Amino acid sequence: AKVYLNGEILDAADARISVFDRGFIFGDGIYEVMARIRGRFFYREAHMERLRTCLEKIDISLDVSSLETEILTLLSASGLEEADCLLYIQVTRGVAPRQHSYPAGIQPTVMMYAWPKTLPDINHTPVAVVLQKDFRWSRCDIKMTSLLGNVMANEFAKSHNCYETVFERDGIITEASHSNVFFVKNDVVHTHPANHLILDGITRQVVLELCKSLSIEVQLQGIPASQILEMDEAFLTGTSTQITPISTVDGKTVYPESMGPVTRRLQEAFLELKFR
Ligand code: PMP
Repeated sequence: AKVYLNGEILDAADARISVFDRGFIFGDGIYEVMARIRGRFFYREAHMERLRTCLEKIDISLDVSSLETEILTLLSASGLEEADCLLYIQVTRGVAPRQHSYPAGIQPTVMMYAWPKTLPDINHTPVAVVLQKDFRWSRCDIKMTSLLGNVMANEFAKSHNCYETVFERDGIITEASHSNVFFVKNDVVHTHPANHLILDGITRQVVLELCKSLSIEVQLQGIPASQILEMDEAFLTGTSTQITPISTVDGKTVYPESMGPVTRRLQEAFLELKFR
């Protein structure tokens, strides 16, 4: 596989990063993942804008727009210009002797790679999730490479034969280990507001736009964990998760319909967006 590293396209095996890179030492970096579908990136501008604002939040200075041509060069070097694929972008603060505070005058490390991936048109198969206390920090709005909390939570899901761990903080459902969570009750769509407790997923934003255009009422409010069993439908959203219905929470089949009507409408509208 080919890798873009600091201005060069290299074979992955030849790409070298210093052990003193702050991404390695501290997880001091930001990343982004976007999907290329039928020859274009899905919501590229929104992803690049989130990358820009996340870098701004942690004071890494980088002209994100300069990556646009580099991305196309990488795709062509990878033979993926025409292929459906996923692109990973990572920017770390750079290389410096280990000290916590931001070192002055260092260059960020920029790494990108892409791999072929065709996402399903629609995710018909509902998934099982487990609940867990949200033990992460309170700046979940930053899409940082320090993902240990998310990694541990996803492993917890796997060990329970589940697709996702859904987090609860102070009794309220926030998001999941690598996706956002939505609930439907009486045709009203509920999801946690985009504050410091969740990552504002691009797919989440797209689904909220779709609700608007389909005249589906939205409540930007986290659902109390105690009310999960009373909801009519639930689904996850994410770049590769897309819109995936939830059937089972903590081993209880909460949403017996394989796919609720609101989830179905959103999925169909989402499919149209992808292929428009
Ligand atoms: N929340 C978390 C914690 C995530 O890591 C992700 C990204 N996989 C999402 C939500 C969904 O974001 P997006 O729709 O932009 O992929």
